[in-house]
Amino acid sequence: MKAWQELNLGGVVSEPGSSRNFQTGSWRSYHPVWIEENCCQCMLCWIYCPDMSVKTADGKRGEFDYDFCKGCGICALECPGKKGQKAIVMEEGVSGPEPDAPRGSTRGDEERAERAGGPPSSRTEGV
Ligand code: SF4
Ligand code: SF4
Repeated sequence: MKAWQELNLGGVVSEPGSSRNFQTGSWRSYHPVWIEENCCQCMLCWIYCPDMSVKTADGKRGEFDYDFCKGCGICALECPGKKGQKAIVMEEGVSGPEPDAPRGSTRGDEERAERAGGPPSSRTEGV
């Protein structure tokens, strides 16, 4: 058995900006599903998501980043949708609808700056 001095430190962020290295979406119990035809592109989901897990493409709302989405449901709660129909619904289970789809992190200094400074007009991540 190791002495306490030999154990690795736990609960410590040893390197700033390292959260993108940890794909935290694997432990959710619900996942959001985007229903594009009900989406009015208001971007409220992008604003409210605490994990920056709503991707954009060409300044419009894109798919979810399931690598980091923790399934909190805030996006579904805030989504106004169209004509009384939500554009985001929460479904039980860890998996998103397209587990093999190309994924990319939505995290980064550039995105944080955009979020702080205005609409995502120049965000062009692949989905
Ligand atoms: S469920 Fe939560 S973490 Fe996932 S995209 Fe919606 S707001 Fe973000
Ligand atoms: S909050 Fe709903 S309607 Fe607005 S962009 Fe997101 S998915 Fe579309």
